[in-house]
Amino acid sequence: MIQHLVNVSGGKDSTAVYLRAMESGRTFRAVMADTGNEHEMTLEYVARLHERTGGPRVEIVRADFTRQLAQHREYLLREWPKQGIPEAIVQRAAELHEPTGNPFLDLCISKGRFPSRMAQFCTEELKTIPITTGPVAEMLTAGPVLQWLGIRAEESRNRAKQPLFNRHESGSMVWRPIFSWSVEDVWAQHRRHGLAPNPLYALGMGRVGCMPCINCRKDELRGIADQFPEHIDRIREWEQTLAEANKRGSATFFPAVTDPTDVDRPGTYSRIDTLVEWSRTSRGGRQFDLFFQQQGGGGCTSDLGLCEREAA
Ligand code: SF4
Repeated sequence: MIQHLVNVSGGKDSTAVYLRAMESGRTFRAVMADTGNEHEMTLEYVARLHERTGGPRVEIVRADFTRQLAQHREYLLREWPKQGIPEAIVQRAAELHEPTGNPFLDLCISKGRFPSRMAQFCTEELKTIPITTGPVAEMLTAGPVLQWLGIRAEESRNRAKQPLFNRHESGSMVWRPIFSWSVEDVWAQHRRHGLAPNPLYALGMGRVGCMPCINCRKDELRGIADQFPEHIDRIREWEQTLAEANKRGSATFFPAVTDPTDVDRPGTYSRIDTLVEWSRTSRGGRQFDLFFQQQGGGGCTSDLGLCEREAA
């Protein structure tokens, strides 16, 4: 018998799929990967989804990078001294390779960098792998699995090219049951079930998920900084931790360069506070503008589409 698994993110599309699964009358499980960079309202929304709908409780999975951190610590203790890196820097970096328990931060420390649009390892490592090696693998031992995904064709050109059904490399099948839905269909689904959407939408967030997402746009960054400054504080702390945990001595959440004509810091990346300050201005800033114009507004590259795109 086919087992059904609904992937939930706390966003409107995956919630609509969860409700669709309830309407189908089938028995199903639901899962969310907590990246460690989620907004607390999203975690609360998902934790209470079953109470508000009568559906199944959403299981939470979190990636664990204990092994990768230990491997990288061993590597840096062995190799960095040979590269002439001062002992104090090596020891401090080694100390910071103890697991913090936060998947996002631990992943970045083990990689020595933050993810970026060009190196978007976060979706795979923080969402796809823990879900497929956790609940999906466990369910596959009992028989075939169908994963239900909240992907809609109108979200992006890339998503529009995805099939309705396909086999995933995990061995499960995946289905996009709201593929042809409009965003209005999604909101109507919430209304039909009397379910209020994630409150972050009413607070002006176009997309829920990582706060901030590495793909966020200028206005999204400003909205987060204005309403949830504690999330910017966390990113600032992570930048500092990561800077001390890698041999470059620097790390920035966004790879947005300062103006290359800046004679004091030519071609360097800017930390979160500089970008937040800039996001509050109508000032151009050629390099920042170029960087943020190319941002996709959220969204992941995996075929499981586990990160929400900015609302249409
Ligand atoms: S793409 Fe964005 S939302 Fe998805 S895991 Fe990366 S930072 Fe988080």
